Amino acid sequence: MATNKDLAELIFPDIHKTIKDLEKLYPERDLPEGAEVTRFAPSPTGFLHTGSLFTALIAYKFAKQTKGVYFFRLEDTDQKREVKGTGLDLVRQLKNFGIVADEGYFGDSDKGEYGPYEQSKRAEIYKICIKELIKKGRAYPCFCTKEELDELRLVQEANKVIPGYYGEYAKCRHYSVDEAIALIKEGKPYVIRFKSKGNHLNHIRVHDEIRGDMDLSENDQDIVILKSDGLPTYHFAHLVDDHFMRTTLITRGEEWISSLPIHIELFQTMGWKAPKYAHLPVIMINDKETGNRRKLSKRKDKEAATSFFLEQGYPVKGVIEYLFTIANSNFEAWLMENPKGNLDDFRLTFDKFSLDGALFDLPKLNNISKEVLSHMDKKSFTDECLHWAKEHDEAFASFIEKDRERFENIINIEREQEKPRKDYEKYSDVFPKIRFFDRSFFEESVLKGIPFNEHIDKKTIEDLLLDFKKTLELDVDEEQWFSSMKALGTRHGFADDRKVYKKDPTAYRGWYADSIAIVRAAISGTTNTPKLYDTLRILGREEILSRVDFVLAHL
Ligand code: GLU
Repeated sequence: MATNKDLAELIFPDIHKTIKDLEKLYPERDLPEGAEVTRFAPSPTGFLHTGSLFTALIAYKFAKQTKGVYFFRLEDTDQKREVKGTGLDLVRQLKNFGIVADEGYFGDSDKGEYGPYEQSKRAEIYKICIKELIKKGRAYPCFCTKEELDELRLVQEANKVIPGYYGEYAKCRHYSVDEAIALIKEGKPYVIRFKSKGNHLNHIRVHDEIRGDMDLSENDQDIVILKSDGLPTYHFAHLVDDHFMRTTLITRGEEWISSLPIHIELFQTMGWKAPKYAHLPVIMINDKETGNRRKLSKRKDKEAATSFFLEQGYPVKGVIEYLFTIANSNFEAWLMENPKGNLDDFRLTFDKFSLDGALFDLPKLNNISKEVLSHMDKKSFTDECLHWAKEHDEAFASFIEKDRERFENIINIEREQEKPRKDYEKYSDVFPKIRFFDRSFFEESVLKGIPFNEHIDKKTIEDLLLDFKKTLELDVDEEQWFSSMKALGTRHGFADDRKVYKKDPTAYRGWYADSIAIVRAAISGTTNTPKLYDTLRILGREEILSRVDFVLAHL
């Protein structure tokens, strides 16, 4: 009578190493007490989803704040779903957000002692483990065809029993070793299944770092651990990898909670200590049409792909801060106290993890980014802006490069002060707001029509602008300039006080804000500019006069 050992040898004749060898090859890490080893383990199925960025960020942060290790593992065992080349894209995209792994898969080469970090290159390691499971009688070949499994499902549905491959329904589990060997020798294709000893009527208590203790049904499913293509399934692969890569903390999406009992049973069967698990909330969004919450969808929501934030020019710090607000309920209060703070000083904790608050809120991201951009000094703002413009807006990039100093002065209006102005949410907001500084753009706007207040007659505008030209004084402080602007308005029938005007509107053409708006429109071609005093000083006397002449000629 053949033994499990014979079966294991028949299935894996070329596997000679043992788990013991692997333990030696990948020893425990020598890290200080409390240091966490975390990982981000995406499948290369396309692009970096915002939810994945969130997951990666959490793993990264826990490793960093505990002086541990964060690594990147490419989970490419589902070759049908794989989109070639996207593994490297993921690494690059994360780098854009400042998330660079200490070790792991980096595209062309791996870095670190616990590799390979691409699951498709670890087939031998998985087979070593599975061979031992077969020897112990805890894994077996399953020859069921797709048709048989479909039929099983129909039977189970009809009988209203839990679907799956388990107990009495697990046909191949009941073959004797001799029968299994005979079928293999006949050339019947097979997968390898785990032989569960669980009973779903039993409950197990599992600890989750975020959710605390959870009572879950014991696993009784004989899940597939090795597919017919020789690669393992996620359940088994992550187990082996996290064990031999010495992960201490698994942070992953909450969709994995339901398979946690499988993982727990697998860890127990292997005789390995399971790492800590933290199942992160899935990022949701309020559906605009139905008003209901649903998962961020790459088909429906532009903000589901992290490339959106980069294309729009959100500052990385803003995106990261925003994701921290989703993660920890106390982060916003910290941010209020430390608006210019270094994020490294904030300690993320699981007990402050919001389970409910994982709702994507673009206006909130906008506010946070505004704040971040307003606190940047002119030099770094310009550097980042130029970096963004070079990739996304050529005209803007050349505008900056033509006269960087002038650009710095423009964006420095009401910046680098106690309460900086919050003009921009993202770098793509900048050019449209300041483009009027460019002479040809200004002329184009004027030719399209100047946005003067339609209640003010042309003659008044003309007189006011001629007077403005005549009396323009730039080498004065802001207060003096402001009084002269008020006086200009008064000379042309505009009240120098809003209340006075409101009391008797027919006695005036408007109030001084209306007269200033005329000047603003005439020198910029728009209704909105940064603070006019600074804008005028940057444009300079000659340019202002010639712009006003241009406007007068096109009134
Ligand atoms: N490859 C899995 C996923 O993309 C990883 C889950 C995990 O982090 O263990 O969902």
